[in-house]
Amino acid sequence: MNSIFDPRYLTRNILIGMTLGGAIGVVLNQMGATPDNPGFIAGELFQFIGDIFVRSLQVLVVPLVLLSLIVGTASLDDVRKLGRIGVKTLIFYIGTTAVAISIAMLMAVLFRAGSGFELNLETAFSVKESPGLREVLTNVFPKNPFASMAEGNMLQVIVFAILFGISMCLAGAPGQRVLDLARDLNEVVMKLVVVLMIAAPFGVLALVGKTFAIQGFGTIAALGQYFLLVLGALLIHAFMTYGILLKVFTGLSPLRFFKQMRRVQLFAFSTASSNATLPLNLENAQHNLGVNRSIGSFTIPLGATINMDGTAIMQGVATVFISTALGVELGIQGYLMVILTATLASVGTAGVPGVGLVMLAMVFQQVGLPLEAIGVIMGVDRLLDMVRTAVNVTGDAIVSTIVAKSEGEFSQEIFDAEEPQWEERTLVPTKVGRL
Ligand code: ASP
Repeated sequence: MNSIFDPRYLTRNILIGMTLGGAIGVVLNQMGATPDNPGFIAGELFQFIGDIFVRSLQVLVVPLVLLSLIVGTASLDDVRKLGRIGVKTLIFYIGTTAVAISIAMLMAVLFRAGSGFELNLETAFSVKESPGLREVLTNVFPKNPFASMAEGNMLQVIVFAILFGISMCLAGAPGQRVLDLARDLNEVVMKLVVVLMIAAPFGVLALVGKTFAIQGFGTIAALGQYFLLVLGALLIHAFMTYGILLKVFTGLSPLRFFKQMRRVQLFAFSTASSNATLPLNLENAQHNLGVNRSIGSFTIPLGATINMDGTAIMQGVATVFISTALGVELGIQGYLMVILTATLASVGTAGVPGVGLVMLAMVFQQVGLPLEAIGVIMGVDRLLDMVRTAVNVTGDAIVSTIVAKSEGEFSQEIFDAEEPQWEERTLVPTKVGRL
């Protein structure tokens, strides 16, 4: 029984939590739980546990991104290396997103998504003003680092951390002293990730339980074609695009990779949040995939913030689906515009549940589709959000592995190690003592 609390059995425990949560959720749903009237278990208990769990993970995100990026950048022996890694990483992140959305739109066009679908625009969707392109780009640059951290604006935190890390590199002895401190702090925060993972199975149970309880399964049937297309494109991208990329650029076994990624994917699926998954993804990249910390600490936080292939896939299918249902011809130019804006929207999408739908408004605006139409697909979005978040975090890990391998910062031994390698490594007492 004690193994419930043992992080070495994390994958199994998360799976149990998810399955139990899903089963309880479906029963509650059958007993009449709805979003407006979820009942005590889903609306109060699960909500309460889930909120606390997600908050506990979110509290780690800013310190973790800041510290790991500062340490990662400042530890590079040569600042030029940062430029090379940065360019490579960005090319892969943006490239994979563009491929993702192209696959999505191609499938949607081939399967004539949305044709014959009765679009009822009464289900008005009120969007908060989605930011324009220029604003998204300007917003990358912080004007007050403390405000960026307080607001959890990750892109700004990333830019600040990289600049700070570069200055540490250039500052000589004072930079080295700050680096030692930042390394120690980073180590402690990473340990906190392991501590929090003890609660993961319970948190996951509550989150999945609540989602399944209030999910209208009837909506899925009504939007079956859209749902299956998004799901299909997500799976194709996750297994084919990523599998091929990994094989071609690293020669590593995709099967092994997916095995090493399981726990992160399950976790992303349950939380529907790249941000909440970031601590685990970072930990897993180092200790299970063999991505050296100097690379992972840079690529994973960056990916969690700007690389959202799964989100772009949903946006691609949604755009074709809605435009066809409305009888609007987008044409080649329109499709190219969608690829461009959805790629940028994915950069601007925060890694929290449901934001992809809000950013879809930006895409719709660019191609002149009515924003109310987003309300039509809202009913099935949460379930798709879970799957696309799993794809989002997988994309971050794939690119990190490719970049690490190309830089010679990769450990085959860790990649090949059987589970539960990383937990044991992580649980090895540090200077301070045992967990
Ligand atoms: N939930 C997604 C993520 O955190 C973002 C989205 O597509 O809504 O990666």
